[in-house]
Amino acid sequence: MSDTLARPFDFAPGHREAGSRARLGTLHTPHGDVATPVFMPVGTAGSVKAVTFEQVEATGARIILGNTYHLHLRPGHELVAGRGGLHRFLGWSGAMLTDSAGFQVFSLTDLVKVDEDGVSFRSHLDGERLRFTPELSMEVQLGLGADIVMAFDQCVPADAGPAEVARAVDRTQRWLARCVAAVGRGGRHRADDYERVLFGIMQGGTLPAERRRHATMLVDLDLPGYAIGGLSVGEPKEVLHEMIDLAAPLLPDDRPRYLMGVGYPDDIVTAVLAGVDMFDCVLPTRMARTGSVLTWDGRMVVKNREYQRDDRPIDATCPCPVCARHSRAYIRHLFQARELLGPMLATQHNLWFYQELMRGIRAAIAEDQLPDLARDVRRRWSEGERRRLDGVARREPGGRKR
Ligand SMILES: [Zn+2]
Repeated sequence: MSDTLARPFDFAPGHREAGSRARLGTLHTPHGDVATPVFMPVGTAGSVKAVTFEQVEATGARIILGNTYHLHLRPGHELVAGRGGLHRFLGWSGAMLTDSAGFQVFSLTDLVKVDEDGVSFRSHLDGERLRFTPELSMEVQLGLGADIVMAFDQCVPADAGPAEVARAVDRTQRWLARCVAAVGRGGRHRADDYERVLFGIMQGGTLPAERRRHATMLVDLDLPGYAIGGLSVGEPKEVLHEMIDLAAPLLPDDRPRYLMGVGYPDDIVTAVLAGVDMFDCVLPTRMARTGSVLTWDGRMVVKNREYQRDDRPIDATCPCPVCARHSRAYIRHLFQARELLGPMLATQHNLWFYQELMRGIRAAIAEDQLPDLARDVRRRWSEGERRRLDGVARREPGGRKR
């Protein structure tokens, strides 16, 4: 190992909860330590939309996610590498993870054509014909300079048949071998400046046998970390929770386990109980921009008329700067008037909400009380969501009832 690697990547599992598979841990990265279980805010195209990095940092977040697909299209990894890498380009000194572009290619673009070498597709920006291969995904991510780079995988839709799921597992595994070859031995890229590590991604849809088969192949590669992919793509919540429960313990106990793109607070407590350490999701930022904020009692559509004269903060128990200063009535007004400040305040609150959730989860694990907290979170969240949807149904007779 080179002497220049002052702080190689490492995961140190900590206290294990007595009554579940939940554990505390620390990700030691070249850009600082991260306490797990952790939620990573999503910085899609080089920004966590509608907030500054100071505001992101103030929530307690120490790791963010960047989207390789978006950054490859604009401004391109060479430009970012020329500016000293993504950390310096953005002005974010904390840790960073980039996804592989696989998920975006399969979900955002048209005319996707998969072959053994890679994926051809059209850009969602201008329709330009583009192509991603495992090697290009690694080149882009290593150039961007994230501390954790994700393997290029093939995602299949929730309704894919067993043969299609199995083919995607095998192809993802062959692509993973190419990712490892491009990154370096053991999935560790020993660059002059700092070490980047590669996480493998488990596919297998909602088929337990495929999940098990892929986990066995993944573990053989002895990578620095592993992710559970291909979930939250339209399957029912019960199935999602079953698959999390099944998939997490299949991955090695001494490596970080990352559940990609999930989810609501009840999904997150369920996954932590199963032994998951890392999360990301666009929910808090995306919902905020359309006028929804998160509370322990479900979503609040704060732009709705019912909050017109509501002088209370979004959540009286929330320690965020928005709840300390502003009322629901004011935030509702901002959305009505299409003021930029509306999405900005809602995003800030939602990011705080997720960091508070994770702080609460870590404190509960330390006290061996996560099952109690999880029960409480699930009950309040589902009751709140039910009330909200009942309200929607009352206001729109014959309208959408879920
Ligand atoms: Zn708040």
